[in-house]
Amino acid sequence: KHQGMSKQRMMEIRKLNCHPMTMKVTSYKSPVFIHQGHMQWLWDTDGKRYLDFFAGVATVSVGHCHPKVTAVAVAQMKRLWHTTCIYVTPPLQEYCEKLASLLPDPLKVVYLTNSGSEANDLAMLMARLHTGNHDIITLRGSYHGGSPQTMALTSNSAYKYPVANGGCTTTMCPDVFRGPWGGSHCRDSPVQTIRTCDCPQGQCMANDKYIGQLDETFATSLPSRVAAFFAEPIQGVGGAVQYPKDYLKQAYQRVRERGGVCIADEVQTGFGRTGSHFWGFQGHEVMPDIVTMAKGIAGGFPMGALVTTPEIAAAFSKGAHFNTYGGNPMACSIASSVLDVMKEDGTQQNSLVVGTYLLTELAKLRDKHEIIGDVRGKGLQIGVEMVEDKVSRTPLPPAAMNDIFEETKDMGVLIGKGGVYGQAESGQTPPLRPRRKARLKEHLARQSLETRVKNISEPLQQLSQLGPLLSRNRRLLQGDRACSSRRHSWMIVDDTRRH
Ligand code: PMP
Repeated sequence: KHQGMSKQRMMEIRKLNCHPMTMKVTSYKSPVFIHQGHMQWLWDTDGKRYLDFFAGVATVSVGHCHPKVTAVAVAQMKRLWHTTCIYVTPPLQEYCEKLASLLPDPLKVVYLTNSGSEANDLAMLMARLHTGNHDIITLRGSYHGGSPQTMALTSNSAYKYPVANGGCTTTMCPDVFRGPWGGSHCRDSPVQTIRTCDCPQGQCMANDKYIGQLDETFATSLPSRVAAFFAEPIQGVGGAVQYPKDYLKQAYQRVRERGGVCIADEVQTGFGRTGSHFWGFQGHEVMPDIVTMAKGIAGGFPMGALVTTPEIAAAFSKGAHFNTYGGNPMACSIASSVLDVMKEDGTQQNSLVVGTYLLTELAKLRDKHEIIGDVRGKGLQIGVEMVEDKVSRTPLPPAAMNDIFEETKDMGVLIGKGGVYGQAESGQTPPLRPRRKARLKEHLARQSLETRVKNISEPLQQLSQLGPLLSRNRRLLQGDRACSSRRHSWMIVDDTRRH
């Protein structure tokens, strides 16, 4: 239990002296005062324990205050904490070699930063210098950073200010749940939805349509040559959106035909979170030219990175590149020990096993409850899209969503919210088509929204029992020795993204 400053005093200071919190998406009505953490658990200042399903948007990749990582941090702090750019410090070299060994050829040149936004800023600059082109394409609903440059890449209205858009153009996000062409069964996930489109087996017509949209973006909004295409392998902040299997492969080909480079933003998907692979892009069988990463890279310690090919790095080496803290000895030793722990504890396999189990159980809830429209994701990057009902797929209104969010917290489970509509109180729900509207009216007459929201209480109660399961998953699921789960970011999506 926290013995220091009172909650009331903290709130007073927060109002007067701290930057105003505009992250409505993840704030609670009555704030959670977090005081301590250990592995998958967090404790508030009153000593109440929470199961951290959100893990700071997957930053806590090996658990809060992991004993091994903490020991390395303390040892490094006693030895040296300094800048990066004046001297050669051993932790940076050691880390770059370790990280590069985890990426396929020719992705071997590492740049270290302090955040994901900085890594993406650098990627934008590098792509422009290397290609000599200016225009960059991103997917609608994406989040790539909050710096003025990366805000132009970000296409999620909740996080945008009216800054100069600087040559960034968006294209339709291939969201097969929300989009007009169906195709949910074409994504790479252990849980499948009922086939809602009639494309022949093995050929996703929805994918063809989304690629058609990209072609249209090229034809109508861009010059003949582009600098880059940015995409997350699974859209994180946008609501754990998974694309049809071949989308990235075909998009990469089209971008390269126009002289651009392909950039995988692995800030959320990297470091084994998706279970099947260490990097999200590997699940799409593509080879990016630049990979950016942050969050889970150092288990919650501020750090970011960019990895690229020697050829692209060469184009960037003509001018000076300077970053006072990017790759500092503290961050590098911590990130190094995070990689060691990931290997020792098998966190990628853990994501696969626990994530598949969780997805399967959540899919059962989806089949039972009207307001769970979709369950998707891979490993422990999981999204549950909340809707008013399955027929209309109207996003659950923010008020109803907030009730669930608060109730989950009261039960001792911390989750996140994501997506574009509804969650940030700035979004608007999409208009319904008339036929859907009529069907919905008939359908809704049978049960009130309040009842539908209330009905989810019982499964949420079950969720709060998942803490011990996450600790003992290996023993439970594989008959292996007890092992803690650390990659448990889980997100409720109460909305959709804009097309
Ligand atoms: N890319 C993605 C996919 C992200 O989710 C985020 C952070 N939410 C960023 C980039 C920006 O990272 P940072 O907050 O460390 O600048």
